[in-house]
Amino acid sequence: MANRERLLQTLTDLIRIDSPTGEEDHIDAEITSRLKALGFQVHHDSFNNIIARSDGSGEPVLLSAHMDTVEPGRGIRPQLDGDTLRSDGSTILGGDCKAGLSIVLEAIVSVRESGDSHRPIEVAFTRAEEGGLVGVHHLDFSRLSARQGVVFDGEGECNRISVAAPSQNVVTAAIKGVAAHAGVEPEKGLSAIVVAAEVLTQLPLGRIDEETTSNIGRIEGGLKRNIIPEDVLLDGEIRSRDNAKLDHYSQRFRDVFADAGSRHPDASISLDICNTYQAYSVTESDPTVQMLARALAHIGLSPRLEATGGGSDANVFYENGIVALPVGIGVRNFHTTRETAIISEVLQGAELCENVVRGV
Ligand SMILES: [Zn+2]
Repeated sequence: MANRERLLQTLTDLIRIDSPTGEEDHIDAEITSRLKALGFQVHHDSFNNIIARSDGSGEPVLLSAHMDTVEPGRGIRPQLDGDTLRSDGSTILGGDCKAGLSIVLEAIVSVRESGDSHRPIEVAFTRAEEGGLVGVHHLDFSRLSARQGVVFDGEGECNRISVAAPSQNVVTAAIKGVAAHAGVEPEKGLSAIVVAAEVLTQLPLGRIDEETTSNIGRIEGGLKRNIIPEDVLLDGEIRSRDNAKLDHYSQRFRDVFADAGSRHPDASISLDICNTYQAYSVTESDPTVQMLARALAHIGLSPRLEATGGGSDANVFYENGIVALPVGIGVRNFHTTRETAIISEVLQGAELCENVVRGV
C-alpha cells in the first residue's frame, strides 16, 4: 500500500534538490540511486534522460514525469500546513513535477514491498520539459517497448485525464528598420518598434476559439531613447487541437507580417513559424483510458476526461506510438509562487499508479 508519510518524505526530499531546467544532474543522481536500489536497470540516453526498466509479466507500461522545474525554483523551503504543502512564498513549490516523480517512486516501492507480481515497468524521467519539451524530443525511443503509459504531470486530482492536447507552432519574427538620431534627423530612420506595433494590432491574439490560442509572449527591441530603433524581436506561438486551424492562423500571421512589409519597403522582416509538437486526441474507448478507468475504479474514483490547451511530453510520446496520457498529480497553481501540493491527492496518484503497475 502506498504510504503517506513515506511519500511526503520523498516529495520534500526531491523538492529540496534544486533542478531548474538545464540543472538536473543532482535530482537525476538521487532518482537514479533510488531506482537502482529498487532493482531497476537504469540507462541514460544521449540527452541524459533517465530510461529505466524492471521485468514483470504482461504488457509493459510506461511511467513518466519530468525532472526539471521552472524558476524561481532555488532553495525551495517546503512547508506543510495540514494536508497542503507550499513554499515559503518566495519560490515555486516544484510539485510540478516532483509530485509526479514521487508518485512513480512510491508506487514502485509499494508494489515491491508487497512482493506481488506486476507488469514490466518502463520509466522515462525527462529533462528540460519546461524548456519546451526538449528532453522528450531527444528521448531514445528505441529503448521503450510500452505502447501504453501515464505521464504524471497534470494539475489537480489524479482522475483528471488529458485526452486531447494541441499542436504548437512557435513564431519568431525579426523586424529590421533603419537607425537614425532621433533629434537630429529622425526622417532618415524607420522605427522597427512602430512596425512591430502595427503588426501586433493586426495579429489574431489570445483565445481565438475553444481549441485555438495564440500569443506574442516576448518583445525585445531598441537601444536608447535618442535612437530610432533598428531592431525588434518578437517571440510567440500559435496552438490548436485542430491542425487545419493551426495552418489557417499560421497563414494569417504570415499575411499580417507580409502586409507590414509592403507598407514599409525599407523595413526587412524575417518570420519563422515552426512546429514544435503535434496534437493528440483519444476517445473513451482507447485502451489507455480504459486502463486508467479500471485503476481509478479500484480507489473509488471515476475518470474525468479533459481537453487541454497545454502541451506536455505526452504529445511527443503519442507521435512515437505510445499513448501515455497526463493525469493530475495533486498539484495546483503550476508555475507560480502560490503552487501547492495536496498530499492526500498526491497519495491517490500513487495508488492509481500502483494499480496501473499491478495491471488491475
Ligand atoms: Zn510539468
